[in-house]
This record gives sequence, structure tokens and C-alpha cells, in this order.
Amino acid sequence: MAEQYDFVIIGNSAAGLQAIRTLRKYDQRATIAIVDREDRPAYSRVLTPYYIGGHILREGLDIVDHSFYEELGVTPVFGHSVISIDPEKHSLQLADGSNVGFKKLLLATGAEARTLPIATQRACVLRHLADAEKLVDLYQDMKSVTAVGAGLVSLPLLSHASEQAEKHLVVGSNRIFSRVVDPETSAILEDQLKAKGLNIHKQNDIKEMVEEDQLQLKLNSGKQLSSDLLIIGKGVTPNTHLAVEAGLNVADGILINDNCRSSHPDVYAAGDAAEGLDFITGETTIQGNWMTAVEQGENAALNMLGIECSYQGSLKNNITEIFGIGVAAVGYCQDDVAEIVSSWNAAAGRFRRVFLDEKQRVVGANMVGETNDAGLYYQLVSTRSVFPGKQMLTGTATYAQVQFHLDS
Ligand SMILES: Cc1cc2nc3c(=O)[nH]c(=O)nc-3n(C[C@H](O)[C@H](O)[C@H](O)COP(=O)(O)OP(=O)(O)OC[C@H]3O[C@@H](n4cnc5c(N)ncnc54)[C@H](O)[C@@H]3O)c2cc1C
Repeated sequence: MAEQYDFVIIGNSAAGLQAIRTLRKYDQRATIAIVDREDRPAYSRVLTPYYIGGHILREGLDIVDHSFYEELGVTPVFGHSVISIDPEKHSLQLADGSNVGFKKLLLATGAEARTLPIATQRACVLRHLADAEKLVDLYQDMKSVTAVGAGLVSLPLLSHASEQAEKHLVVGSNRIFSRVVDPETSAILEDQLKAKGLNIHKQNDIKEMVEEDQLQLKLNSGKQLSSDLLIIGKGVTPNTHLAVEAGLNVADGILINDNCRSSHPDVYAAGDAAEGLDFITGETTIQGNWMTAVEQGENAALNMLGIECSYQGSLKNNITEIFGIGVAAVGYCQDDVAEIVSSWNAAAGRFRRVFLDEKQRVVGANMVGETNDAGLYYQLVSTRSVFPGKQMLTGTATYAQVQFHLDS
């Protein structure tokens, strides 16, 4: 006889965790199970580069411990992969052959790092804790490191390598962080990173690799690099196969409506596996950030409880620090908007670039050098507010002033 639950969540990370918190907050009686193939309480993927670089301990990654699930009255089914779901029979199958029944199901299955067909132990992606543990070993005594792909995995990892290590970044396009910042912001950032000793090889790729004492990497440009480690930061692939095989509507991610519901009325999806509306463009997208996963996890849970609740759409929201330089991107940050307002204080290394629509509303912002006003921009974008004025750019606007502007 299969175990039966009111709510089952697959995926014990940003989206799944917020979903169980929300389910329990509004329903103290429901039976809830959370399944994950990783055999541990939830941890932060975002902090793994800090762990690899030796800046935080392994325990510093933990978001919760075992007692969290116990206190919430949620059954953890960790160390088990779900191999299929049957929405009509309200049942899923685990790899050990057992079945779990549900009334409502949330797919919070996230994504996997894309890899390259390279046969060496010295190339590594970073998505799961097991990858992080492997990188901790590879970072020991590393004299040279190359990363391919210029996003939120490669750059933080390079920046956490030892100061003495030679660092190379190989980028296919003509700029870095192209998913979240505009070309002008990329250019400013690239100059700063080069000044910190990062070697950037743009419009390039790895053409050949030979493993000797070190990896010998030949780039498309003909340049030859010798490296102890190759970091593969080529983006992610959403975990959609369960949804595809169950016949749910899937594009790049599992398609969800503004209730975070999939094409089946009893199956919901949230986070990096889900494709829903972008708040600014109104197009479907996979935002791929922690905050979107949390927001969608919460929205899905409310709707699973029957509390009809519409999600207004996701926003880009990335704040990180690389080579000691703060970088933030909020909302839509590309140069095809109606107007862009910028401020660059070269002496302080402080750059602000604000993206406005035809009604002078803030649709996005890039920040380099200091990111403590990222929350203000998030508020302006998410409330579709008109740009308060240039004092925002120089960092003289306080939270209270912006709040006054929003209220008036
Ligand atoms: C190195 C790194 C740095 C990052 N930096 C940032 C950052 O600075 N800011 C930011 O906002 N975001 C960042 N992200 C992205 C952020 O971590 C993700 O957006 C977030 O983790 C998505 O959460 P999720 O719950 O959707 O899925 P995930 O965190 O991917 O979790 C999905 C879970 O589902 C489980 N699962 C999948 N399939 C199955 C199955 N069939 N059976 C059982 N279990 C399954 C997986 O084991 C996993 O635990 C970073 C990610 C990485 C890897």
C-alpha cells in the first residue's frame, strides 16, 4: 500500500522549502511529504563558491537542519529519486520501486548544470554539494584555473580561487554577465576585473584539450592555456523530464500559469524548473534566481491550499560579489529600453545604470562597486514606479526618501 499525502513536493531547495513553510502556516492538519534525491536538509547553492574558496565552513551552507522538518510535521523522503509521476492516478514512483500518493503535487525539481563532453577529473561543474566537495579538493594547491562561460557560477568561483592562482575566463560572446547586465555595464566590469588580474578571452571557446601534468587548453583564437582545473559554467538545463513524460506542457521549463499551476489541475511547478511570466516583458521565462524560486514556491503552495492567489511575474534579482566588487542586476537591464540614465564615479569604482520605459518608470538597474541600494531598485521596479531622480544614482537617496516618493 503506497504512502498517501495531501501534498507532495519534489525538490528540497528554495522553492520546495518555501512551499512547505507556507503549506504548514495555513494548514496545520494536512499531511505533507518532501522528496529529494540529495540525502540532507536544504542548503544554499548560492554560497557554495564561498565554501569552496574556504571563506565559510561546510555548516555555513545549511539553511535548516533535520529538526526543521520534524517541527513542521513534514515527512522528509531524502536520498530518493522520483522516476515518474502519474497525475491522473495522483501517484509518483521512486527509484526503489515504491509509490507515493498525493492530492496535489509541486514540481520544484530545479535544474542541472550543463557540462561538456570532456573526459578528465579536473573539469567540474557546480550545482550540487557533491560538486562543491569535489571542487574543494581541486582547489588545493591550484596554481592556474580556467573557467568557460561568464555567469553566476564561473565568476564567483574564479574570484574565490587563491590570490596567487593564475585565472582565465573564456567567454563565447563578446561580453561577460550578458544575461543580467547591459553591454556598458559589462565593459565597466571587465575593466575592473582585468585590473584585479583576471585574464578574459572573449568570443572564444576551448577547441582542444590534452591532459598532462596540467590541462593543456587550446582556444579557438589559437592561444594555449595551461590549467590545473577547468570550471564549466555553461548555464543550466531545467529538470523537466518527469513533467514531459507525464504529458504536461513544457517549453524550456514546465509551463505554469499565474497560479504556478501546470497544465494539470493538481500539479504545480516553481523555481528553476518552471517557466512563467516575467513581470516586465510579460513573456514566459525561467528566471533562474533564488528569490523567484521562493516567490513561486509560496504562490504555488497558496493555490494548492485552495487560496486563489495570482503571481504578478518574476524579476531578475542577482546580487553578488566578485573579486571584491559588488555587482547587482534587478529587473530588465538591456539597452533597448526607452531611456537609460547612468552615473560613473571612476575614483570610487561606483557605477549605476537605470533602465526606464516610455513612461519614465524604472524597469531595471545595474549596479557595480556597491550594491546596498539594490533593494530600493527592486522596490521601484516591482511597484512600477517613476524614476525618483538623479539623487538615486549618486547614492544620496535614503530608503525613507524613496518610500516617501513611492507613497506620494
Ligand atoms: C554556484 C551557484 C551560484 C548561484 N548564485 C546565485 C545568486 O547569486 N543569486 C541567485 O538568486 N541565485 C543564484 N543561484 C541560483 C539559485 O541557486 C537557484 O535559482 C535556486 O537554487 C533554484 O531553486 P529551486 O528550488 O528551483 O531548485 P534547486 O535549487 O535546483 O533544487 C532542486 C532540487 O530538486 C531535487 N530533484 C530534482 N529532480 C529530482 C527527482 N527526480 N527526484 C528527487 N529530487 C529531485 C534536486 O536534488 C535539488 O535538490 C546560484 C546557483 C549556483 C549553483
